[in-house]
Amino acid sequence: MPNDLRIVLIGTTHPGNIGATARAMKNMCLENLWLVRPSVFPSAEATARASGADEILARARVCRSLDEALVGCRLVVGASARRRTVSWPQLDPRESAERLLSESRHAPVALLFGRESSGLSNAELDRCHYLVQIPANREFSSLNLAAAVQVLTYEIRAASLRGRPDEPQTPPECASADTMEGFFLHMEQALLDLGFAHPKQSAQLIRRLRRLFLRARPDNEEINILRGMLSAAQGRKSMRR
Ligand code: SAH
Repeated sequence: MPNDLRIVLIGTTHPGNIGATARAMKNMCLENLWLVRPSVFPSAEATARASGADEILARARVCRSLDEALVGCRLVVGASARRRTVSWPQLDPRESAERLLSESRHAPVALLFGRESSGLSNAELDRCHYLVQIPANREFSSLNLAAAVQVLTYEIRAASLRGRPDEPQTPPECASADTMEGFFLHMEQALLDLGFAHPKQSAQLIRRLRRLFLRARPDNEEINILRGMLSAAQGRKSMRR
């Protein structure tokens, strides 16, 4: 069983889907369910649909924000039914399972699922190193939430049964999601202070920079260097004022 592989459901509306997710997870030997702002939870409907996977529901962590669910995570993969206009790095279901499984041996990792009505928001996709899409019917690509969880967690199970996949290609000590968010906030503020960008008018620029740094998977020391550079630039600018 992977060490800390979190299945994170964001803004789930139907409690039945939460129960069916718990059942799918238990079937596939996963146990860490995180719920970000579910509409209704706990609920008798969720328990009924869990059909015996109640302990997963009982241990589910309910959070007020995605930030909370991602504390400590070093790899974040978002499940998305749609091809997006901005091209996020993509993995297929098998690759995503192998990456999540292999990296979960070193640090917490998360697989995110969006709302039944609208999926994941752009701000939530911005938190992901990769997106994974189940290659369904192009004209009818959106699976039921719990069905999508079932397919992707089956791939994790299958990867685990295939045996030890490749060792992680990325250094296990890369900075966690919360450290990266601290850096991104600092970066946006610095770009604003330097007059290089206005975050409100430069959403695409900020998104591209986020993707660049997420792709690089920097470690804590590298983040400290980058933040030191930003602080120095901010200091120099304010001295000139
Ligand atoms: N109507 C929404 C889809 C919601 S389905 C939309 O257009 O985005 C609820 C969630 O299930 C999605 O956010 C996604 O996390 C997952 N999901 C559904 N179909 C999927 C697919 N084909 N590939 C990957 N994830 C999928």
